[in-house]
Amino acid sequence: MNWLSNFIRPRIRSIVGEQKDVPDNLWQKCDACEGMLFHKELKANLNVCYHCGHHMGIHVKQRLEILFDDGRYDKIPLPAVPVDPLKFKDKKRYADRLKESQAKTKENDALMIGRGKIGGQMAVVAAFDFSFMGGSMGTGVGEGLVKAAETAIKDHAALIVVPASGGARMQEGALSLMQMPRTIIAVDMVKEQGLPYIVLLTNPTTGGVSASFAMVGDIHISEPGAMIGFAGRRVIEETVRETLPKEFQTAEYLLDHGMVDMVVKRADLNATIGKILGLLMMRQTSGDPKNTLPDGAGGLSAGGKMVTSPGRSGGTRAEIKTNVKPREPANPPHEKPRRAAG
Ligand SMILES: [Zn+2]
Repeated sequence: MNWLSNFIRPRIRSIVGEQKDVPDNLWQKCDACEGMLFHKELKANLNVCYHCGHHMGIHVKQRLEILFDDGRYDKIPLPAVPVDPLKFKDKKRYADRLKESQAKTKENDALMIGRGKIGGQMAVVAAFDFSFMGGSMGTGVGEGLVKAAETAIKDHAALIVVPASGGARMQEGALSLMQMPRTIIAVDMVKEQGLPYIVLLTNPTTGGVSASFAMVGDIHISEPGAMIGFAGRRVIEETVRETLPKEFQTAEYLLDHGMVDMVVKRADLNATIGKILGLLMMRQTSGDPKNTLPDGAGGLSAGGKMVTSPGRSGGTRAEIKTNVKPREPANPPHEKPRRAAG
């Protein structure tokens, strides 16, 4: 083939003249429906396919802009952590991998924290950057989540975490696994203050991230079609020796099975989260425990289905109880009315 590429092709080029290459970033193919998408229109549509509604990955900066009112927020820097304490090396040195990702993303680690308002309520959002080593959670990310929780407490704000992660960062070994309990403690501090902790699950949320802070939110929202799970499908199928349903580990499947409370389109996220924060922080802002629900607030129908899960909610339970009575059977057969007691 060498004579073709080395001899014939240059000859043809010299006769026809160099073809001007068409810029390849004008169009993009949808992963789901294979429809062609014009780059500018796709960006304007928040990286959601305008043929089939498939939600593609989104840059972490744009993610924060979408979530906050008018796209305005203050960026909170990540705390400094020791770099590569284990001096880990696989095909490349971990320190080099870190430097490459830092140069590519212009960020220190796979997490970005912003503070601003959502629906007029103060909120701290910690969003993962999947383009930074697969959004993996190491010491830097763990420390960032602790910082986000502390900021939320200091500012009396809601904490919203947006995972997009393959799990723990292998290159940090046990240190990355230690971030799992640490992040749980961090979000518990927020709950103890009676502040809402909301998790917005995006594609993908897996491994050590889904096994820690991402599954203990007061409310779990997910983007349509997001893959959420712990171990991969093949591993589970080989372990349980069963064929899993096609839609297994998707946001919609988890909504049907009670792990996710709402599936909300990207364009509706600001409005929906704003509405939820308005409800959860009502007592905190007004200081009046006798607050009643505003008209239509019980529906929470902006783009999703609300499922009450009293067993999982944490610190905000008290706030919810003052406003909304938890759903109970009309006459629990096994229990006498509490009034009679005492
Ligand atoms: Zn599509």
